[in-house]
Amino acid sequence: MRIGVPRETAAGERRVALVPETVARLTKGGHEVVVERGAGQAAGFPDAPYAAAGARLGDAAEALGAELVLKVQRPSLEEAGRLREGALLVSFLAPASSAGALAALAARKVTALAMELVPRITRAQAMDALSSQANLAGYKAVVIGAEALNRILPMMTTAAGTLAPARCFVLGAGVAGLQAIATARRLGAVVSAFDVRPVVKEQVQSLGATFVEVAVQAEGQGGYAKELAEDQQRRVTEAVAKHLVSQDLVVTTAQIPGRPAPRLISAEMVRAMKPGAVIVDLAAESGGNCELTRAGEAVDVGGVLVLGPVNVPSTLAFHASQTYSRNLQALLGHLLDKEGKPKLDLQDEITGAMVVTHAGEIRKK
Ligand code: NAD
Repeated sequence: MRIGVPRETAAGERRVALVPETVARLTKGGHEVVVERGAGQAAGFPDAPYAAAGARLGDAAEALGAELVLKVQRPSLEEAGRLREGALLVSFLAPASSAGALAALAARKVTALAMELVPRITRAQAMDALSSQANLAGYKAVVIGAEALNRILPMMTTAAGTLAPARCFVLGAGVAGLQAIATARRLGAVVSAFDVRPVVKEQVQSLGATFVEVAVQAEGQGGYAKELAEDQQRRVTEAVAKHLVSQDLVVTTAQIPGRPAPRLISAEMVRAMKPGAVIVDLAAESGGNCELTRAGEAVDVGGVLVLGPVNVPSTLAFHASQTYSRNLQALLGHLLDKEGKPKLDLQDEITGAMVVTHAGEIRKK
């Protein structure tokens, strides 16, 4: 099968869908892989290793014209129009906010699979790109915060006296949050965390952090959070407000699938924080967990810095591409038969959950 890997064209996107390691496996398996020249450059993968892995280097038209096109970001309308009719496309597609792109893909009769929709089941864990990218984002959030802080994270005993460790509070202890906790702990901070799903308490504690207790229960389908009832939300707000005043670094990661990010930190709560404190809001792109977050900006509120970094995995493009590429490799292992031909079973638990356009129709919005 001819597999195309175009260069990503979305602003600020440095990742590439396949790294040479995965290309080598696919070419050994008998596939023809066409990589657009320069596709991996920004992620630290120049053209030569792709060629050594058996890829053919080509232009955008060749990569986009393949039978199976692998991308990171959803194609632009222009790119969608250049896909071959009836092609298979796998990428992040943000189906809920991509009506135009989905219509363009359906018009080309493209079968498009959204990487956001890999089901959160054990069998699909190796394909789970939301997790692989969130894990890296959680790590980077702490590094961004450490860089912005005017203090160090660990306790340090020096000839000039002892320096107290920073206090780090992680809101939302899913994949990104747990990695943020582990990273802040490795750097020596005193770490606490909160999540509306009480089941994560044990995971938080096993990483050496304390769990901020609030009597709520908001676990919905598939292990995800659902929105809190009003009285529960009030209790959470009170507990978070009380805890925030003593914190130096706050990392927020709370998300509810398909909904705007829950508002956890109000402007008033930010104003009550210590000057010099830093908030890193990983939910900036979906509206922010903090009322004052501006996506892609740093806002100074009386000495408290509110950072809203966007597309954080792209800043770690080497490892983000490597893990995404392995996710795709695992997915292809599921999608292709022994002869390397796609076996598209729309009733399959994984494939069926991921297909957003097929045979000219939009199946999911
Ligand atoms: P996510 O990115 O949707 O949300 C991040 C975290 O924010 C979640 O832990 C959620 O509970 C929390 N949150 C939501 N509203 C909140 C609020 N008001 N206050 C505080 N926290 C709030 O979730 P995710 O990290 O992608 O994954 C969530 C969970 O899904 C994981 O922890 C795991 O249990 C499950 N999961 C399972 C698999 C698998 O089995 N293959 C893979 C990945 C994740």
